Amino acid sequence: MTNPLIPAAAESRADIERLRLRTQLFIDGSLRDAAGGERFTSVNPATGKPLAEVAKGGPADVDTAVAAARRAADDGRWSRLDPAERKAILIRWANLIEANGRELGLIETLDAGKPITDTVGLDMPETATCIRWHAEAADKLYGQVAPSPEGTVATITREPLGVVGAVIPWNYPAQMAAWKLGPALATGNTVVIKPASNTSLSLLRIAELATEAGLPDGVLNVVTGPGEVVGEAIGRHPDLDGLAFTGSTEVGRRFLHYSAESNLKRVMLELGGKSPQLVFGDVTDFEQVAENIAIAIFWNMGENCSAGSRLIVHRAVKDRILEALDAELDNWPVGDPLDPATKLGPMISRGQMDKVLGYVDIGKREGARVVCGGERILEETGGWFVPPTVFDHVRNDMTIAREEIFGPVLSVIEFDTEAEAVALANDTPYGLASSLYTRDLNVAHRVARNLQAGVVAVNCYSEGDMTTPFGGYKLSGFGGHDKSIHAHDQYTETKTIWIQLDQAK
Ligand code: NAD
Repeated sequence: MTNPLIPAAAESRADIERLRLRTQLFIDGSLRDAAGGERFTSVNPATGKPLAEVAKGGPADVDTAVAAARRAADDGRWSRLDPAERKAILIRWANLIEANGRELGLIETLDAGKPITDTVGLDMPETATCIRWHAEAADKLYGQVAPSPEGTVATITREPLGVVGAVIPWNYPAQMAAWKLGPALATGNTVVIKPASNTSLSLLRIAELATEAGLPDGVLNVVTGPGEVVGEAIGRHPDLDGLAFTGSTEVGRRFLHYSAESNLKRVMLELGGKSPQLVFGDVTDFEQVAENIAIAIFWNMGENCSAGSRLIVHRAVKDRILEALDAELDNWPVGDPLDPATKLGPMISRGQMDKVLGYVDIGKREGARVVCGGERILEETGGWFVPPTVFDHVRNDMTIAREEIFGPVLSVIEFDTEAEAVALANDTPYGLASSLYTRDLNVAHRVARNLQAGVVAVNCYSEGDMTTPFGGYKLSGFGGHDKSIHAHDQYTETKTIWIQLDQAK
């Protein structure tokens, strides 16, 4: 079924002619150049050609943004607003994101190379849903009264942290922003956020829409620029109360240092993954399982933190599964992300493509066998395209089974027993997501309990929806969760108010 929201390629090309990209920093309610006047080039990954010159912020811009956010936090223009009013503004914002979904989706496709079917059909609707979901909670969360002794009253309430910093990755630019901004703003914080430098553009437009929705100036500030400069300045800023980071485990570690070496701001980390997909020997619906396996690893070009990059499959069904997967790949055309038929666009950058192809070489050298893909394609477009790649005969100690590739590369590993499957699945430093396929309810429950991962999907690939928390075990992060009401916890402080009552006269 075709989605009527998705424009044809010719329509998108006409839209491009009219598109006005926002390329300045967004501070205190308006767009402005970086203090140093510098800019950097954002490139369209489908063509390799420059797309926009974006303001290159620096530490001075972070200072300005934090000062604006601090003023907005201190005078209570947001935190002390009637929660119903806060909710109404955020819902207006979500509605504007939805109403402008075609423009925002196009920006995301041009900037990140993500297929238009995903950006217009999923990313922008999900971004709006996320903001709306958290907004709805703003006037529905109650504090508690503790069972304190006679003659006392003790209340337990949640208060906003104050000013929150957020640093996000390039794979879901708008959605990752919403996962932070939704709960942080709904709970009354002000925010300074840095998008990844290759994907700044959708967030700048989304921020502008926030002002249109009535968000007071200074509540949301966007500073674009390089991670090692702007990201570090945010991480080390002495006047931020919390820091929400999504990105690689390597950079996540740095944020702990930044916090420890500055003001001990609390740090929430959502990091990388090397997620297993377990297929047990009793499955019979091979086509359905193969379709789910493909979604888990190839969706978003495999540039997905929860990508199911290790297929741990029972020896008895491995060949049937690989046959079904081979047939399923006919449904995964790679190409121009503006074409609604495209399922895989380019890698985000030349560097990322080289990294992925480098892992393919390592896999071959270590003795795994390429079943399909494994080479750059569509080079004539100037874009950085890698097709779905499947490695068979992988051992779990090989580099391609241990390190996060963050591309469309699946490693197939065989097992014989349930215990072996669970041991293989858990033999990774990561613990973000996992899937398992079986017809046996006992196996499903036992294995789901034994997997060390923040999300276990049974007979499907899923990260859950807005109602469920998302976050990892082990090197996949800690300190909080995205999505669901649990996401409100990390953006609030718990306050006890203890009142001694006078004796009755
Ligand atoms: P990255 O860690 O390279 O960059 C993330 C952000 O940190 C970017 O904004 C970047 O500019 C900034 N940054 C880079 N170096 C920095 C430094 N020295 N100091 C401060 N900030 C710095 O990650 P990426 O390549 O943008 O994204 C891919 C990674 O993100 C993968 O590891 C993926 O698994 C992870 N990810 C995790 C989740 C999750 O929810 N767990 C979701 C999406 C992506």
